[in-house]
Amino acid sequence: MSKLQLITLDLDNTLWDVEQTIRAAERELVSWLKNHAEPAHQVYTSATLIELRAQTLEQHPQLRHDLSQLRIEILFNVMRSADYAESEARDLARAAFDVFFAGRNRVVFFPGALEMLQTLSERYPIYALTNGNADVTRTGISHYLQGAISSALVGASKPDPSMFHAVLTPSNASPQRCIHIGDHLHDDVQGASNVGMHSIWVNLQQSRLNENDPQPSHEVNHLDEIYAAVLAIEDSLQN
Ligand SMILES: [Mg+2]
Repeated sequence: MSKLQLITLDLDNTLWDVEQTIRAAERELVSWLKNHAEPAHQVYTSATLIELRAQTLEQHPQLRHDLSQLRIEILFNVMRSADYAESEARDLARAAFDVFFAGRNRVVFFPGALEMLQTLSERYPIYALTNGNADVTRTGISHYLQGAISSALVGASKPDPSMFHAVLTPSNASPQRCIHIGDHLHDDVQGASNVGMHSIWVNLQQSRLNENDPQPSHEVNHLDEIYAAVLAIEDSLQN
């Protein structure tokens, strides 16, 4: 049996560029609104959107961890602002969200991402652990994974320990025999360290690590370095 029990893996900005993905999805959404709900398109592309977003979060504070439902409610408020009747506003919000969500899952993988998933998944159980709303089936990575945990599911976001425990507890895994891989020093590296897991910091931008930053077990600058980092951590574990 492998000394390493499981790996948890961040998605956004670890496997793909999330800002670029969201920008493309937003463009598709805006163009859909223009063609299917012009009054809502005007609201959505105006400064009012910022107010509507703030109002929606005030109405539904629990949705700050559920980005999909939050976006649906924002779109609903956009439709209502554009004077659609309630039930039509619901239907249009849902349809508009579907357009956005298709784009949100049309990701462009970083070089080496799928090879890394293939190699690691042959040897270790991998669980996605994301604060975002990417869908592992629609992005095409579910066959590499034993499971996927999102903030929407847990009702909290990394670095909250409950996110990590949502994988560790049902797997009956010892955190010191598990690795979390991710790009974010606070959410991923500090979060993993807080529950006693090893961490691999995916630093594709080659940012400088300052001494006050959370310290990862390993740092990689390219996804093809991850497997070696995992093996190094595994080698350091006692039987
Ligand atoms: Mg990330």
